[in-house]
Amino acid sequence: MRVVVTGGAGFIGCNVTRALLRTLPSCEVVIVDDLSTGRLSNLADVFDQIEFREVSILDDAAWLGLAGIDAVVHLAALPSVPRSVADPLTSNRVNVDGTLSVLEFARRQASPPQVIVASSSSVYGGNTAAVKQEEMFVAPLSPYACSKLATEAYTLAYQRSYGLDTLAFRFFNVYGPYQHADNAYAAVIPLFIAAAMEGRPMTLQGDGSQTRDFTFVDDVASTIVDAVVRRVVSPRPVNLAFGGNTSVKVIGELIAAECGIEPSFTIAPPRVGDVPHSCAESSRVRELFPSISPRDLAAGIASTVRWASAMVLHN
Ligand code: NAD
Repeated sequence: MRVVVTGGAGFIGCNVTRALLRTLPSCEVVIVDDLSTGRLSNLADVFDQIEFREVSILDDAAWLGLAGIDAVVHLAALPSVPRSVADPLTSNRVNVDGTLSVLEFARRQASPPQVIVASSSSVYGGNTAAVKQEEMFVAPLSPYACSKLATEAYTLAYQRSYGLDTLAFRFFNVYGPYQHADNAYAAVIPLFIAAAMEGRPMTLQGDGSQTRDFTFVDDVASTIVDAVVRRVVSPRPVNLAFGGNTSVKVIGELIAAECGIEPSFTIAPPRVGDVPHSCAESSRVRELFPSISPRDLAAGIASTVRWASAMVLHN
C-alpha cells in the first residue's frame, strides 16, 4: 500500500504516519510538507522509513512522479483561527486552493486514490447547540472555519462530480504527543502542560467553564488508518470525536494531578468569538468505525504529560 500524507510533519500528521507504519508494516508513506508549521524532528524516529518531500501542496512539484497511490490523507493546512483573521488570503490559498491541488492530483491518476481530508468543528461556529450533529446548520465565524467548510465541500463535490472515493472528517479539539507549546498559536493542553511543568499558573481565558470534546490523537490516527485500510467513503462529513464534554478548567486540574502539583490558574479575558460548548454527536463515526474504542481522557492526558516530560529531558 502507498499512502501520501500531506502535512505529515505536523502534530496530527506525524501521529498518522507512525500509526500507518505500525499497522501496515509494508506501507510506503510519502509525506508532502513545506515545514511552515511542522517540524522534521516530529518524524526523527521514522525518517528512514518514509519518503519526505519538502514542498508546498500549492507547488506542482509536490506531485511530480507520484503514481500508484492508494490513499491521500490530506492534513496540510494553516490551522489557526487567529492566523486566518490576521491574514485571510494566505489561509484561503493554503487551505482551499491547497485542497483543490490535492483533489486534482487524485482525480487525474490512472487509478484514483481515496482522499481523506481534515475539516473542523469550527464549521459549526455560531450554531450554539451543545451537541453538534453533522446535519445541523453550519455557521463559520472565521476565515479559517470558512476554509475548512470549503475543504469538505470540495471534497464531497469531487465524490459526486468525479466518483472519487472521499471522506471528510470534522476534527474537534485533538491533543496528544507532538503537539507543541512553543508557538504563537499553541493549543490549551500543551500550554497548560508547559505551565504546570515550569511551576507557573495556567491561564484560563474566561472562567474556564467552556467545554470541549478533547480527542486523543491516537484515536484520530487509528480511525484514519482504519479508513485507509477499508477504503471507507462517506457522502456526508463525519465528526471525528467521541462525545466528550470536559471543561478547560477540569483539563487543567487533570494535568496538575498528573504532574503531582496543586492546580493554579490566572484569569485572562475571554477570547472573542469563543463558543461556550463544543461536543460532537458521535453516532456516525461509531457506526463507520466500530473497532475504534476511544482512550479515556485521564489516560490520554497521562500519556501526553509523559511525552512532554521526555521532551524536556531530551532537550
Ligand atoms: P499542524 O500545524 O501541526 O500541521 C499542519 C502541517 O501542514 C504542518 O506540518 C505544516 O508544515 C503543513 N503545511 C502547512 N501549509 C502547507 C503547504 N502549503 N504545503 C505543505 N504542507 C503544509 O496542525 P495539526 O493540528 O496537525 O492539523 C492538521 C489538520 O487538522 C489541519 O488541516 C487542521 O486544520 C485540522 N484540524 C486540527 C485540529 C486540532 O485540534 N489540531 C482541529 C480541527 C482541524
